[in-house]
Amino acid sequence: MFCKKCGSIMLPKSGKGLECSCGYSESGNIKLKESGKNHDMIGIAEDKEVLPLTDAICEKCGHTSAYTWEVQTRASDEPATRFYKCEKCKHTWREYK
Ligand SMILES: [Zn+2]
Ligand SMILES: [Zn+2]
Repeated sequence: MFCKKCGSIMLPKSGKGLECSCGYSESGNIKLKESGKNHDMIGIAEDKEVLPLTDAICEKCGHTSAYTWEVQTRASDEPATRFYKCEKCKHTWREYK
């Protein structure tokens, strides 16, 4: 911002507005850019296991309990794919048909 009177650089006044060394001042709201307010950090809580446990044998460690959930893959008229995640070793596999 330059002074409309003398053309030199105006400095921000305490409070609001700009002030030049020549005495000319311009009032107005100096809006400080508030960045970083919009956080799109609503991520998926992956660490929280809220999945139901079911009886399934893990092919990796032989554990007999696994978390299970269904994923609707392609078209909605197709059956959902069932996934399992070993409670013990976190090995994940899909249901074999
Ligand atoms: Zn000035
Ligand atoms: Zn396992």
